[in-house]
Amino acid sequence: MEGVVVTEWKDIPMELLLRIVSLVDDRTVIVASGAIGQNCSQLQSLNLGWCENVGDLGVVSLAYGCPDLRTLDLCGCVCITDDSVIALAYRCLHLRSLGLYYCRNITDRAMYSLVHSRVKNKPPMWQSMKGRCDEEGLRSLNISQCTALTPPAVQALCDSFPALHTCSGRHSLVMSGCLNLTSVHCACAVQAHRTMSYVPHPAH
Ligand SMILES: [Zn+2]
Repeated sequence: MEGVVVTEWKDIPMELLLRIVSLVDDRTVIVASGAIGQNCSQLQSLNLGWCENVGDLGVVSLAYGCPDLRTLDLCGCVCITDDSVIALAYRCLHLRSLGLYYCRNITDRAMYSLVHSRVKNKPPMWQSMKGRCDEEGLRSLNISQCTALTPPAVQALCDSFPALHTCSGRHSLVMSGCLNLTSVHCACAVQAHRTMSYVPHPAH
């Protein structure tokens, strides 16, 4: 039989590798992210949604192997904890979109690690003047059903990433089912409130 002989992980074609990755558990993600790291450390997008066997070990090694990740879906990865998000926050500085729907072990620690990495890696003022500040950083985050989160942590996150919106027009910070987070708002809401209060009262 003719065909490509695959003797090592790194010989597996990228497309196939990604398909395998989405089916598997920690051990496989670790091996695969090592291979991706060698092969293609510039991997930018990965969907691990509802891979319930994937935990912190897998996500942490992914964060180390693929520092250029921009989009990562971990929705329904019920085993992962703050350690996964912390590794992503400090290793994947270009992360734009993160799905954590139903990751119920996620706490404020994870939110603050994202805030810290943002503060640490903020471009100097002269660069942010050119709009770089808006281009970098999270612009989509789903923390629906992450019921352990508290308003101060999520508000700090919202304040640090101006591209995250809770307003109905943009809605890039999704937190459905987090009933205790109803007080968290993006800057638009605050601005709208101020504008309302500045409207001069008609003279009598
Ligand atoms: Zn907004």
